[in-house]
Amino acid sequence: LLDVQGVRKEFDGVPVLRDVSFSAQSGTVTVVIGPSGSGKTTLLRTLNALDVADGGTIRIDDVSADFGSTVDKRVLKSFRAQSGMVFQSHNLFPHKTVLQNIVEGPVVVQKRPADEAAKDARVLLDQVGLADKADSYPFQLSGGQQQRVGIARALALQPELMLFDEPTSALDPELVGEVLVVMKNLAAEGWTMVVVTHEIKFAQQVADQVLFIDNGVVLESGTPAEVLAEPKQERTQQFLKRIL
Ligand code: ATP
Repeated sequence: LLDVQGVRKEFDGVPVLRDVSFSAQSGTVTVVIGPSGSGKTTLLRTLNALDVADGGTIRIDDVSADFGSTVDKRVLKSFRAQSGMVFQSHNLFPHKTVLQNIVEGPVVVQKRPADEAAKDARVLLDQVGLADKADSYPFQLSGGQQQRVGIARALALQPELMLFDEPTSALDPELVGEVLVVMKNLAAEGWTMVVVTHEIKFAQQVADQVLFIDNGVVLESGTPAEVLAEPKQERTQQFLKRIL
């Protein structure tokens, strides 16, 4: 489903992604770990074309782009539509209810009928354990509940691929578990997911592959058992020692 080859991205002449390659089968979970500033967020942003790569190729399903030349706007739009992104903090619309937040994308972007979008949104809310919060406003929810609404909102756009950028790192420790449970359920349902996280236990339990990104390259990749339990690279060993 996802194939990334030699992706490069720089900001103001400073390379952030130097040469990133990996691929992920449909229905698998890829966990991305690595030090702060190594380019993890930038990688996710290039996958859904929030940032446009400077080089390399990305293929999502049957849409592919070679960033060595100018990429058609329609292809970038398609990348955006194919992936749902969950951010570190939810950035929900504060003046809209939970339900309104979820139907906004389907109705405004995808022009779906409002009643149909609302019906689907209620199913998604049930799925993230918030069926009773449809009419609440974001400020009335805990951080963990807000993140779960953020997940439902991304799912509502029916993407091929779900991208998570440290979805639990801004939460109080006691709220992390409820968000991880929702993500585990999505994985079990067969969603294709790329997850940037420092939650190593989640990675051990859920990931099909783990990528260790350092200084803009995938320094090491493999199964959780390979990368987390028996890392070959010294940089990976040092990183894991620091966060465990
Ligand atoms: P963290 O774990 O701290 O979020 P990260 O691995 O996700 O780090 P990125 O957020 O991808 O790293 O950032 C990598 C580098 O790129 C950083 O040095 C950052 O300052 C720089 N960078 C990211 N986005 C931009 C931008 N829009 N303009 C300029 N520099 C940027």
